[in-house]
Amino acid sequence: MTTQILSAALPLISASFAEGETHLLIGTGSGESLSLTTRRLQTLQRSGAHAIVVNPSSDAHYKVIAARFPEVEVYNRPFQLSDLTTLGRVLTAKVVDRVYVNLPFVQCSDAKDIYAQCAKLRIPINTYQQPEHSTFNMLPTYTDPKGSGLQITVTTNGCGYVLANRIKREIINSLPANISQIVANMATLRNQVIADNNERLLKEKFYSADVGLGLGFGLDDDVWESHKLNTLIREFDATKRNQQTKRTRWLSQVMEYYPLAKLADITMQELENNAALQESNPLSSADTTENAASNTSHTDGRPLKIQKVEGEANSTVTVLEGDAAKQSHAKKGSISLVGSGPGSVAMLTIGALHEIKTADIILADKLVPQTVLNLIPAETETFIARKFPGNAERAQQELLAKGMEALKQGRKVVRLKQGDPYIFGRGGEEFLYFQEHGYEPTVLPGLSSSLTSTVVAKIPATHRDVADQVLVCTGTGRKGVLPKIPEFVPSRTTVFLMALHRAKLLTQELLAKEWDENVPVAIVERASCPDQRVTRTLLKYLPEVVEEIGSRPPGLLVVGKAVTKLVPESLVQFTDQRKHYIEEGYSDFEFDVASLIK
Ligand code: SAH
Repeated sequence: MTTQILSAALPLISASFAEGETHLLIGTGSGESLSLTTRRLQTLQRSGAHAIVVNPSSDAHYKVIAARFPEVEVYNRPFQLSDLTTLGRVLTAKVVDRVYVNLPFVQCSDAKDIYAQCAKLRIPINTYQQPEHSTFNMLPTYTDPKGSGLQITVTTNGCGYVLANRIKREIINSLPANISQIVANMATLRNQVIADNNERLLKEKFYSADVGLGLGFGLDDDVWESHKLNTLIREFDATKRNQQTKRTRWLSQVMEYYPLAKLADITMQELENNAALQESNPLSSADTTENAASNTSHTDGRPLKIQKVEGEANSTVTVLEGDAAKQSHAKKGSISLVGSGPGSVAMLTIGALHEIKTADIILADKLVPQTVLNLIPAETETFIARKFPGNAERAQQELLAKGMEALKQGRKVVRLKQGDPYIFGRGGEEFLYFQEHGYEPTVLPGLSSSLTSTVVAKIPATHRDVADQVLVCTGTGRKGVLPKIPEFVPSRTTVFLMALHRAKLLTQELLAKEWDENVPVAIVERASCPDQRVTRTLLKYLPEVVEEIGSRPPGLLVVGKAVTKLVPESLVQFTDQRKHYIEEGYSDFEFDVASLIK
């Protein structure tokens, strides 16, 4: 079944800062019910706007409003057009800031005049149930009652108010119970980092280009340029300024990747610890082990106090941390390197699921999707790698050290890796490391994003007469340097992982190596996740398109003629006027994992 998309003009949604403004309510509706007006007055109260009501629809309405909202000015008289230019504040030369019309049916003919006058004076106006006499609409909004500042609203652009409300409720219900703490905590950290950065900038007086990348903060989310924050910086370049820039990036990465529920507990100290991680050697430093331990918690943010240790005859005993060490002679530890696929639980192998369910401790990559982390039993100790730009090396060492520690205690360690462990996942290095230390890992393959992203993006990686070979490579070499550029083969599909943050440089290099500038390219982001996005374009437009659409990590690039093979030609005919084509979303079937492994 295809969905027909209606092509109505979409309203521009924005947040209005109304504190101190004067908002005029004309009329209070027909009939006895005052509910719309009271809801509006409550909303205005929260926004800090000063509300004035003129022309209440009845004496009864007048009395109720005057009694319930003592701070609201109420004029129990007919509305006159001059009210628009006399009841406002001094700052706006007495012109009111906003108008809401809700007149009884008999007076509705006035709506046209009010609208015309408001339009002339540029006053935003909403007329109840008359879109033709409105320049804005109030959206039903959920406001966090705990005051975190979180607000959620949904609009279907008039296609179904009830449906929009239902969708909004579903969204709210799917949020973690501690969402208020999450928002509040992230706001605090963000403000601290901004304050710190501002102080630094003031101190230094000059804004130098190399630190500018990390400072995409502001009130407006439009300036939160996370794709720039993902830019790699040289490791171990630990000047103070760099440290602060790193903290900014870590915070953005933490917000992007950490399990949502855990964000409520992250502290400034932990951000600082990431910086500390740079300086200390985790393999020998007791200090870092302590830091790591403080990070150990479940994906829902609960701190862990107990560990599970396999006792004799396969029974499971629960012991307090520390006692685990005493069990070390009972059993030799074991380790598996497990691929967790690109995102969707449907792409997890049965073997991987088994390992997740039977582990004593799980050491997970930052990119392992939340849906997969949710399968980890509540009592299993879980540690998520703190691998952020600039400290990848140290975070890797920290993870290996944690693995060794658990192995020496005789525990079953599962190293959960995103996609396939051996495709740009340092799986080979980890294999050698544990083997050299006397614990040869079992390796379980996973579906690699490199070859599943193509499938979910409707790209046949090989296709007769179009592509007879596939190359998987990276856009980021060691220490952030661009790797050797492959030659252009017209019949090849090339997948570049870790390449989006350097799309411009990569494109320049490819074109310099005589790649066809008109070869189709797909940017596949969050493949197999519900918020998957596939953007098709041509190589020559790639840098511009990446700049325009921003980033939704993780993402990769697919280059080759196969990219457009399964999409109607009319959609992928690109010109300077139409440079890209975007497809949003991925839905796979929901299923109950437990029922599958009975
Ligand atoms: N071992 C992983 C790759 C690790 S490198 C695998 O086999 O998939 C990390 C890179 O993989 C990211 O920078 C991104 O380019 C790519 N990637 C991982 N998951 C992805 C996803 N769901 N959608 C798109 N790209 C993804």
